[in-house]
Amino acid sequence: MVEPMLSTTSSLETDVLVIGSGAAGLTAALTARLNGLSVTIAEKAPVFGGTSAWSGGVAWIPLNRHALAAGIADSRELARAYIQAGAGDHFDAARVDAFLDHGPAAVDFLESRTEARFELAAEPDYQPGLPGALPHGRALRPVEYDARRLGAHAGALRPPARERVLFGGLQIGAEHFTHFLNATRSPRSAWFVARRILGHLRDLATHGRGMRPATGNALVARLAASAFEAGIPIMLSTQANELIVEGAGVGGAILEGPDGTVRVTARRGVVVACGGFPQDHARRQRVYPHRPSPDEHLSNAIAGATGDGIRLAEGVGGAFEGGLPNPAIWYPTSRVAYPDGSVGHLAHLLERGKPGVIAVTPDGTRFANEALNYHSFVQALLATRREGRAAVAYYVCDHRALRRYGLGAARPWPLPYRRYLRTGYLKRGRNVRELAAAAGIDVHGLDSTVAAYNAGARTGRDPEFSKGENAYDRSQGDPRWQPNPCVGPLDQPPFYAVEIRPGDLGTFAGLRTDAAARVLDGTGAPIPGLFAVGNDQASVFGGAYPGGGATIGPGLTFAYIAGRTLAGAN
Ligand SMILES: Cc1cc2nc3c(=O)[nH]c(=O)nc-3n(C[C@H](O)[C@H](O)[C@H](O)COP(=O)(O)OP(=O)(O)OC[C@H]3O[C@@H](n4cnc5c(N)ncnc54)[C@H](O)[C@@H]3O)c2cc1C
Repeated sequence: MVEPMLSTTSSLETDVLVIGSGAAGLTAALTARLNGLSVTIAEKAPVFGGTSAWSGGVAWIPLNRHALAAGIADSRELARAYIQAGAGDHFDAARVDAFLDHGPAAVDFLESRTEARFELAAEPDYQPGLPGALPHGRALRPVEYDARRLGAHAGALRPPARERVLFGGLQIGAEHFTHFLNATRSPRSAWFVARRILGHLRDLATHGRGMRPATGNALVARLAASAFEAGIPIMLSTQANELIVEGAGVGGAILEGPDGTVRVTARRGVVVACGGFPQDHARRQRVYPHRPSPDEHLSNAIAGATGDGIRLAEGVGGAFEGGLPNPAIWYPTSRVAYPDGSVGHLAHLLERGKPGVIAVTPDGTRFANEALNYHSFVQALLATRREGRAAVAYYVCDHRALRRYGLGAARPWPLPYRRYLRTGYLKRGRNVRELAAAAGIDVHGLDSTVAAYNAGARTGRDPEFSKGENAYDRSQGDPRWQPNPCVGPLDQPPFYAVEIRPGDLGTFAGLRTDAAARVLDGTGAPIPGLFAVGNDQASVFGGAYPGGGATIGPGLTFAYIAGRTLAGAN
């Protein structure tokens, strides 16, 4: 254990110090505070919300109150069997039982004691072939919010990522997505979209930012509004650099903020909630199976997710669990260059499962069912690695698919896409061979792949990978396209391609914790006074990905457990 070396300029006492202000940190703080403790949050960024504020905000929590109210036929046994089948040798019964026992209570607590509000998301479980999988009912999504409710703190809400907004900050919640896709076909949708855009432009003029957060931005705004209401200070631009050891355990931390060094005494304990290590390139290289250089792997997490919480805990003896089969939530990602010279990472959400879109390696061959969930799809992409060749793929589509569904940063009609041709993000060819040459894909390989694919696609079949043949696949397709909503030929020139690399939404590997979210040391014993929540703790699913919301669901649940444990309420 490390003794603090820094000289301090001020000190502060609190019952609980939470390090990090994402969904997990805010939930731990709220649970401890609303159970009677004083709480302080330290946040190293000048804004609060972390990657949670960039996320979809979906939380996978079986047996939640919304599923029960909707009459979803689920049970603890089914959910447990499903998690166990996915986790295999990494199944941790005690933690999974804690997740299943407390997840529904965490949702009840958040919805009854804070501003957080959820509704059922139309998301099937991601592994429909495993026993216990459900087509619906375990994924919750946050309800939109009015950021004015944050009052003077609204400006410190981390804005959504620029890759995932329109018109300088307009967010589209999943509940309104179809209005945006149908705006040119339905007067009702056109009216909805026009009102949304006008309202957004008014917010930009009066507040300098969008004020209708949706998805994870709404979740964070809601939790933060309740945190401020409960009197929890969030110390912005304040980084935790070291944990303080008191007796046998952790009793506080040394922070560095705008006014210098602060020595915080945390009477009950410290919660690390720093968002995992997706931007810690050195640890990524040690733990990710493809040992990527920074360029070979594109994380979609905030730049500050540099593994601080894990390092802080390791500094006092905490054990890191790096051996999960999938140390991160994989996501196919492209690099987008902006006019100011900066480069962003774009997680490709929408187009892969649609008709008229395929994915190929540089030799022009398909390697997976494109409608697979993103995590499994990138696993298949990683399996294409060869000695001396990184895992790279291209999404290829025809003009009809480009304008209907978009291709990454090039959004669907009526939004313009030509600037992406000018920047080289999007490659184009009048025929498939010309496209292959422009994109650097093997010409003969792509030509024969598209010909073979089209032959089956004309009757809605994909003999090679069975795209569109299960409930999850079809949820990714276009329901207007029949007979197979995921499969259609590429036959409307010109043709387009965009380069895809393996990326992530965050990490699954993390600190070893017990069922109460206490950090364990190398012997398996809990370190007194030290908790890890969110992506700082190793995933309860053992590296499997049961469904959308597989980090935020456990993130909220174990934060709730940590807050109650700290307050002596468990
Ligand atoms: C585009 C996208 C979509 C996603 N959608 C979903 C989804 O729908 N469902 C889902 O489950 N997951 C989703 N994810 C993943 C999810 O966002 C993360 O797994 C989750 O938000 C992590 O939450 P957290 O509270 O652990 O950390 P974060 O939300 O990242 O918060 C950590 C905070 O800690 C701060 N911090 C770091 N180091 C320090 C330090 N030393 N001192 C003080 N503060 C520090 C950071 O600045 C940050 O604000 C998505 C991710 C992305 C990128």
